[in-house]
Amino acid sequence: MELGILHQDPTERQRELVMKIRELGQNKFAARADQYDREGAFPFENYDDLREAGFLAVTIPEEYGGLGADYQTYCMISAELGRWCPTTALTFNMHAATFMWSFQIADSMPMSDEDRKLHNERRIGIAAKVVEDGAIFAQPFSEPNTAAAAGKSPFGTTATKVDGGWKVNGMKHFASLTGAASYYGLVVTRDEPGFESDMKGAMYLAVPADAEGVEIFGEWDVLGMRGTVSKSLKFTDVFVPDENMMVPPGIYYQGARDYPHMFLLLCPTYLGLSQAAFDFTINYIVGNIEGGPAKGGEARLSPAKQMSLAEMRIKLEQSKALFYRCMSEAKYQPSKADRLRAYCSQYTVMEHANDICRLAIRTCGGRTIFKRFPLERLYRDSRCGSLMLPWTPEICMERLGRESVLDPNELGEAA
Ligand SMILES: Cc1cc2nc3c(=O)[nH]c(=O)nc-3n(C[C@H](O)[C@H](O)[C@H](O)COP(=O)(O)OP(=O)(O)OC[C@H]3O[C@@H](n4cnc5c(N)ncnc54)[C@H](O)[C@@H]3O)c2cc1C
Repeated sequence: MELGILHQDPTERQRELVMKIRELGQNKFAARADQYDREGAFPFENYDDLREAGFLAVTIPEEYGGLGADYQTYCMISAELGRWCPTTALTFNMHAATFMWSFQIADSMPMSDEDRKLHNERRIGIAAKVVEDGAIFAQPFSEPNTAAAAGKSPFGTTATKVDGGWKVNGMKHFASLTGAASYYGLVVTRDEPGFESDMKGAMYLAVPADAEGVEIFGEWDVLGMRGTVSKSLKFTDVFVPDENMMVPPGIYYQGARDYPHMFLLLCPTYLGLSQAAFDFTINYIVGNIEGGPAKGGEARLSPAKQMSLAEMRIKLEQSKALFYRCMSEAKYQPSKADRLRAYCSQYTVMEHANDICRLAIRTCGGRTIFKRFPLERLYRDSRCGSLMLPWTPEICMERLGRESVLDPNELGEAA
């Protein structure tokens, strides 16, 4: 049976890294996924395995001690993780994407010589936290005022300059990895006259999870992606040292605007999930799954099931083709066509993930809503993709429509 999410022409290095994840995913993560889902528990064992295999530093360049995966390589790794445990893939993305900001994105963007020098010094320490200490980073950007996460208003969490660092106050919600992360990477607004309403001055700070004034609150008893443990966080006068600045001031805003493919990094999780639902359905129908139809039996002869499988395959191939093209177009200031295609890709991957899972359950039938099979969990997990800001399907559609007919000078800064 054909299985696989690798891009058509991987390099040797890409194949090696993806195959390592496949080995971990297939042999270990897949078997643990049900329990994390039932208990709404964070996949600590999977992170221990990823740490041992060096993958916590996957997006950190080799000269800083990491595995040096670039954007495309990381996308393939993330999709492979998503096949075996979507919760692990989604949380791991918060961690791995953090270092894309500090390295790949920061390196591609203009900044003053002074900022570049300071940033280069600081990121030696940032990389060491992962490479040497095995730290896990979360990315709780979202706030109850969702306009900020959608890129339409300044973040309400603030940072006030104090001797040697910053005092952080505010609240974040949907903070995946609460209780598991060693650092919470926040985007904050500078609390100084002139900066209050300034999105451009937003700063990206890593708050130590054990710092005084950090509080986890709220519940996380949800439909899907239950093991992400995405509770709320409150910060009261939390001290963050200067060296925990992930990118120089202004770079987050500029990156969000000029390196839009950063927000596409949630897709591979759901692409892997789609592949998993498709693979399961084929295997179920031909009789390779215990508790399902008999091997080589009648199920595979049903024209209705064959048509459903055809529809699933078309959607999966559309998602893959669009995403694979877009992942090779990720760069600083892509063309308008590339940016609009990235919105199309996000829309397609997220909407198709849920649709493929819907079709999978309909095709396989009632027995697959039992929790002994992974399909009902994939179905619930898949529903979360379209909820994730800043690129929900509605926002993608809105941008695609506006940017198709309005000139850049009519779109405004927050476009
Ligand atoms: C499993 C899971 C894990 C998550 N983990 C993280 C995480 O680790 N870090 C993090 O930062 N966030 C995370 N999120 C949060 C996520 O990105 C959203 O912030 C969260 O789902 C809350 O958004 P909402 O639907 O309540 O927002 P609302 O603002 O109520 O949005 C509802 C819908 O309205 C539309 N909408 C909202 N604003 C606009 C606008 N300005 N223009 C046009 N349409 C708009 C969108 O389509 C949106 O889906 C996670 C979410 C989920 C589901």
